[in-house]
Amino acid sequence: MTPPFARIADLHAHVGTLVTARGWVTHVRSSGKVAFVVMRDGSGILQAVLVKAQVPEHAWERFGTLTLETSVAITGEVRADARAPGGHELGVTDLDVVGTSPLDYPIQPKEHGVDFLLDNRHLWLRSPRQAAIMRVRAELEQAVHDFFYARDFVRTDTPILTGAIGERSGLFATEYFDEGMAYLAQTGQLYGEALAASLGRIYTFGPTFRAEKSKTRRHLTEFWMIEPEMAWYDTHDNMRLQQEFVQYLVERALERRSEELKLLERDTAPLEKVSGDFVRLDYSDAIPLIQAKGSTTQWGDDLGAEDEALIVADYDRPVFVMNYPKQAKAFYMKENPADPRTVLCDDLLAPEGYGEIIGGSQREDDHDKLLARILEEGLPVESYGWYLDLRKYGTFTHSGFGLGLERTIAWICGLHHIREVIPFPRLMHRLRP
Ligand code: ATP
Ligand code: MG
Repeated sequence: MTPPFARIADLHAHVGTLVTARGWVTHVRSSGKVAFVVMRDGSGILQAVLVKAQVPEHAWERFGTLTLETSVAITGEVRADARAPGGHELGVTDLDVVGTSPLDYPIQPKEHGVDFLLDNRHLWLRSPRQAAIMRVRAELEQAVHDFFYARDFVRTDTPILTGAIGERSGLFATEYFDEGMAYLAQTGQLYGEALAASLGRIYTFGPTFRAEKSKTRRHLTEFWMIEPEMAWYDTHDNMRLQQEFVQYLVERALERRSEELKLLERDTAPLEKVSGDFVRLDYSDAIPLIQAKGSTTQWGDDLGAEDEALIVADYDRPVFVMNYPKQAKAFYMKENPADPRTVLCDDLLAPEGYGEIIGGSQREDDHDKLLARILEEGLPVESYGWYLDLRKYGTFTHSGFGLGLERTIAWICGLHHIREVIPFPRLMHRLRP
């Protein structure tokens, strides 16, 4: 009888029986009489042991040809072994080479430069660190859906190809039949607002494109954003939801991906602190605070990355900076009745210098004020007709926010640069592989 195939993660169900495990070779060593193959199959790692005197001659010969990343099918008896990585060992009875791997496999167990690794991203993804990051990413993506599903939000999908939306900068454009140019979406928010008037509470989760010429450690040209939009939420309800959301994501990672965080050498102590209430700081109070620390930013300016770093340095948990000046923010944010120079908005800054992970606001629900803002910004009114309709036909208090998935993962994993948290990063100078 041919032994069944088994995933390494499922070996516990096969102790004492013969199985065939398939995967890629990561290490080999031999004493001449006993040989060891360590392999991974995506579900775990497994050590297989060959005793020369006990395996067929062809198996022993094939062992001699194994190189890093050779793909193999190894048959043997599953033995429970607490000392073995993964808790099991395979007592080999046969070994097949599925695909050889020449000795020039680019990624060797030594230091490589990041550019080299990114050029070989398709292979770099096989390394344990990269696989751990992808698992954290998948966990957080699932957590996003679980969080909103449990709260009865409706997931909606907004278009990626959009028509002319005026002179917004940083758009990727492509020709669209006889309709002129189409632009890749920078946000789904405006469409999300239309959907919130239908469904009450919605969220979108999709790719977002920004032709940003910024070469920083937190900008990609293609990234994934989660954008909830809630009817009848004001700015305070909005921030409360953001706090619960971020706390949930961090807890999920701590609970279910602790092994991966350990492999990434993430100090989780700062993440544990996220369960407390987030700090809320008014923009107008933040300015003197950062000026006292040497910033030259004036009231009215947007905050730069250095300013954000100065603000979070005082706290060990995320910080909301609220109510920015109108001129520093987008036209659709609602005027602050308590100080009409400002708008009802918030940026959520992650601790440990990771910067802004969320931008949120209450939306302007007054038709004429919104129209005035569109004109003030010199935006083409005709493109915003449908958006103004949302205020013309039954306007409503509503708020929403956008959380950048990659920045959130980079923070939770404690990674310096966001390019490692997406399988195939798109950066200003990188479109391949
Ligand atoms: P920043 O000023 O830091 O470039 P932003 O204010 O332009 O960001 P928003 O338009 O508020 O960003 O987008 C919402 C969220 O999307 C941000 O808080 C961030 O988490 C994420 N984000 C924005 N731009 C990028 C980018 N280029 N790469 C990765 N994530 C991004
Ligand atoms: Mg922002």
